[in-house]
Amino acid sequence: MPARTKPLKRVRVVTKKPTRGDVSGDNASRLKAIVGLLEDRLGVPMFDGPRDGLRVLVLTILSQNTTDLSALKAYIRLCETFPRKENAKLFRNEKLIPRLPDGSVDPVAIRLSQAADAFFEPDWARIHTCDEKKLQDIIRPAGLPNSKGPAIQRVLGWVKEQVGEYSLEKALAGKTPTQAAEAMSSLKGVGAKTAAVTLIEAMGADLCPVDTHVHRIVNRLGLVSTGDNREKSYRLLQPMLPEGKGYSLHHNLLTFGRTVCTAKKPKCGECFLANICPSAGKI
Ligand code: SF4
Repeated sequence: MPARTKPLKRVRVVTKKPTRGDVSGDNASRLKAIVGLLEDRLGVPMFDGPRDGLRVLVLTILSQNTTDLSALKAYIRLCETFPRKENAKLFRNEKLIPRLPDGSVDPVAIRLSQAADAFFEPDWARIHTCDEKKLQDIIRPAGLPNSKGPAIQRVLGWVKEQVGEYSLEKALAGKTPTQAAEAMSSLKGVGAKTAAVTLIEAMGADLCPVDTHVHRIVNRLGLVSTGDNREKSYRLLQPMLPEGKGYSLHHNLLTFGRTVCTAKKPKCGECFLANICPSAGKI
């Protein structure tokens, strides 16, 4: 697991071990057992927010189809170009940005939701109303500026229209996590994963965003069978989630996907889910 500047808070639990060869049972029950086994082995990741929703959402949009480091570069350029008048400084807490000995940002330890907390909020009104091409130039380090720039302005316009100010929390007030995710992902350029990541990382919503690791693992475990359709995996997975376990499952599957059930050579021989995995030894 990559090091983090401020590791996720985890607590240990002990779960009843599964019966050898038990790949049967309904998927909700199997998922419940899998959540327990992951927590037993990896601990229980604990939500360490809340965080400002708009900052997390904009950073998450910038991180689509690129590295966290590139997203962060683009976000820093946004904050530098559009500082709030009352806050000319860039950093609120520089220690939340992990650094290598040479002073560059550590690409492994960086955690975007924490990085969102490291900076003073940019002037959202200026970003909202600035020239489209100028915004695209500023965020170019994150790639796809022609879609990400308009997506950011669309989000800002939507929030302002909903509540008269740039507050995602107020725009989503009164909505369940599912309703909030639907409202956000109805905006072009946001998408189900971006909405769910924002809701769990900023507000601790009980959702499990489906990124490349989660999608790959839930398919290998036979919880869903969705080919390359991640959105479908997300839609099928949410109703099966044991209550209160979305955050834990998401973060543990990321760790599990980076260390055991890796994309190319999964370590089935040393996997603690092999007994209940229909793909064990077949990949
Ligand atoms: S047994 Fe293999 S394919 Fe199944 S979850 Fe473990 S590492 Fe992944």
